[in-house]
Amino acid sequence: MTFSELYRRSPSAHGEAPGRVNLIGEHTDYNGGFVLPAAIPRRTIVDLAPRDDRLVRVWSAQFPDIDPIEYRLGDERRRGAWVDYVQGLTWVLAAEGLRAGFDARIESTVPLGSGLSSSAALEIALGRALRDAFQLQMDDVTLAVRGRRVETDFVGAPIGIMDQMACSLADTTSALFLDTRSLTYSRVPLPPASALIVIDSGVTHRHAGGEYAVRREECARAAALLHVKELRDVSGEELDRVNGLPEPLNRRARHVVTENARVLETVRALEACDLSTAGRLFLESHASMRDDFQVSIAPIDALVELARHVEGVYGVRLTGGGFGGSVVALADRSKSAEAARVIVESHNLKSRASARVLVP
Ligand code: ADP
Ligand code: MG
Repeated sequence: MTFSELYRRSPSAHGEAPGRVNLIGEHTDYNGGFVLPAAIPRRTIVDLAPRDDRLVRVWSAQFPDIDPIEYRLGDERRRGAWVDYVQGLTWVLAAEGLRAGFDARIESTVPLGSGLSSSAALEIALGRALRDAFQLQMDDVTLAVRGRRVETDFVGAPIGIMDQMACSLADTTSALFLDTRSLTYSRVPLPPASALIVIDSGVTHRHAGGEYAVRREECARAAALLHVKELRDVSGEELDRVNGLPEPLNRRARHVVTENARVLETVRALEACDLSTAGRLFLESHASMRDDFQVSIAPIDALVELARHVEGVYGVRLTGGGFGGSVVALADRSKSAEAARVIVESHNLKSRASARVLVP
């Protein structure tokens, strides 16, 4: 349904944001560490028209059979449904001066729950539309910080800052090298001879679900036992101390410490256009997520094992929080489309899976 079919008028404000794929640096963001995401060419788009009262009406093309959902500003209440991301944002943006309601229409090509951050894409796209409609004074970093609060304080998913920073700031031709502690960032151009492949495994994850929160808590316990503020503060030279922690905290901390080092190495490799080294780091990251952080699942491991041996692939790994979602591969640009096709066809045939190519 179009905006005018939904609301019998035209939109006057607009906001967009891309989904993101994290190249490397997984589960490091809530440990004050480094991440390296890029935007993907799939986006969330929000059209919006302000109202004179405090009513909010919102409709998503992702849920076409549901009529626009309504609530009043100030009456935001968690419902355990997609509208929580919208309610969460209006609840957070009250502090930025959001006083009036609106009619909104959401449309997206970012798959939901596939580890490509449809939730942050929605928060940033809607935040931009609201900023546009009500002249809110927020830069893109502030918007990312507000968007994260939607998930941590309203939806109840204890995530780090990567997704919102990526959806707010990243582009598709470079990776965003972000220090999640200071929020300083730089852009690392993707080598011209390379391409990213993103494949949705077909198994959706659940962020707010228990395991993510358990990992977060395990990292906090490991940091306390190591007498540091966050695991970011443990260097690669201190792995002996990490290995001395009790199970499974030793594994959790080892993943975070080695993963932070891998992000720094990957940045250097990409800057040197050294795709073999970057690919090796992808594979090491996957092994660490599988064996130490234990957030992978058998179908994803099978997909990675298959993909790594396909012609033109330098390296491949689970991307996003885990327990399902997508894999990202670093590939030779001239071979990436064919490689992606071969990976998905062989995997689906072999594992009776429903994986699909999202990029390229
Ligand atoms: P991810 O961010 O990895 O896709 P999450 O579980 O964090 O997965 O967020 C997915 C949830 O975000 C969806 O279940 C839905 O509630 C909400 N969402 C994301 N995009 C949209 C959209 N375009 N329309 C409606 N809800 C959306
Ligand atoms: Mg999300």
